Amino acid sequence: PALRLIQAQPGIRAGFFSGMSRWPGSQGGRFGAITRLSEAKMYAYVSVPSDYVWRRWWLHNQPVMIVSLVFLALFGFTAYRITLRERCHRGELIDQSRRDALTGLPNRAAAEEAMQVCIKLSKSMQRPFTILFLDIDRFKDVNDSLGHVVGDQLLIEITKLIQSVLRSDDMLARLGGDEFLIVLPTSGPEMTLQVTQRLLQVFQKTLTVGAHTLRVTPSIGIALFPEHGEDVGTLLQHADTAMYEAKREGRNAYSFYAEQMGERVRQRVQLEHELREAIRLDEFHMLYQPVIELGSGRIVGAEALVRWTKPNGEVVLPNDFIGVAEDSGLILQLGEWVLRHVSSQIKRWSAGGLNVWVAINISPRQFQDPELVAKVETALREFDLPRGALELEITETAAMVDPEASMRIMGSLKALGLRIAIDDFGTGYSSLAYLKRIPADKIKIDKSFIDGLNIDADDNAIVHTILALAKELELKGWGYPKHL
Ligand code: GH3
Ligand code: MG
Repeated sequence: PALRLIQAQPGIRAGFFSGMSRWPGSQGGRFGAITRLSEAKMYAYVSVPSDYVWRRWWLHNQPVMIVSLVFLALFGFTAYRITLRERCHRGELIDQSRRDALTGLPNRAAAEEAMQVCIKLSKSMQRPFTILFLDIDRFKDVNDSLGHVVGDQLLIEITKLIQSVLRSDDMLARLGGDEFLIVLPTSGPEMTLQVTQRLLQVFQKTLTVGAHTLRVTPSIGIALFPEHGEDVGTLLQHADTAMYEAKREGRNAYSFYAEQMGERVRQRVQLEHELREAIRLDEFHMLYQPVIELGSGRIVGAEALVRWTKPNGEVVLPNDFIGVAEDSGLILQLGEWVLRHVSSQIKRWSAGGLNVWVAINISPRQFQDPELVAKVETALREFDLPRGALELEITETAAMVDPEASMRIMGSLKALGLRIAIDDFGTGYSSLAYLKRIPADKIKIDKSFIDGLNIDADDNAIVHTILALAKELELKGWGYPKHL
């Protein structure tokens, strides 16, 4: 309206004009600005209703806004899903890193954390707790004879067996291999002893793994908080030491930690280290104890005995190192050395005109070595030994661990032309049924019976009975007149 007024009177150069167009439906505030009106060559304050501005703005920006909102919503949703999945995945990873994949039990890291919590609680509440370090006896034999898969299944069955003895607030963890850790919170020595005895008892049960029925035994080491250590590392180490002591005492046993055990373990570790070095540096030599036929006075054979001379000149007898060699597995290397050394000695004697057989002691671990037959065969071939030149002595106890397998191995060894002797006979509880089938050439009655001959009437009776039995079973005893 103002513009129309000015245009109607072109002479006007200055003045105050105002007017308002009708704007249907508009009300409320307005937006305005000083604007140059190009048609009138002048400035004017022009305003429009604010709801008109908003409407125009919305109409103009509507598509962009909708697209942006949809995009934002999509983005937000996707980000939420990804975060959720990541969180789940992280949770799973943390869970996996704290669990043993085979048994589903907490692993070493989780067990150590739980022990940490236990220590804190026990300290603040001034109460004791105990840990049990449990290792399965001769588990390696299961793996060696039945395979890793059966071994794994057996570990799962063992887990269930242990769990059946524990209460809900006790913790069972697998530390690795065949080692388990049990934490008994708030338990003192008496309660621990009860649990330990129940554990040993429950292991009497046979376990079924596939087609196999197996029985295994544990060795358990016990450490008490706070007497045997106030931190996780010390407690674990001491329980491990005590477990080792239980093994040393014959396995299928438990042992509470005691101070002096630490020193024994240190000595053992030192001996194992020295033994390893001794094998590397060839510090062993053999002695041969002749076997004389009483009738003719002739040397017919010899028993090979191993000796270890330390660099300081000290001679160590087998009794003092075979146990460590056996436990550490070094016996396999040492046994192979003995086999080859003796074979070469027989060869040299034979070249010099002395034809005698030589007996070698085979340790239980060597006897269970799946490579034993192959190793013997290689030595026989390499040194070209005649049949019957080598005799292997196996203790009755070792032979009776798995009688069926023993028969097989002895059969294979005999087929190679070896002679088999059963050592320490009378101490290993052979069943007569197996005795009948053992393909042995010789039975060596245990020293404990022989020492009592003509002193103890019982020993006389036992020795006579064994001789009669041997004769009946047609085992050819050496050193005994045939008529016995
Ligand atoms: P010991 O009475 O001295 O304990 O004799 P052992 O044969 O049980 O010897 P040790 O405890 O030192 O060795 C445990 C063996 O367990 C070694 C390995 O062959 C086996 N092993 C370790 N981890 C696993 C596993 O995850 N699965 C299976 N099947 N066997 C395992
Ligand atoms: Mg073990």
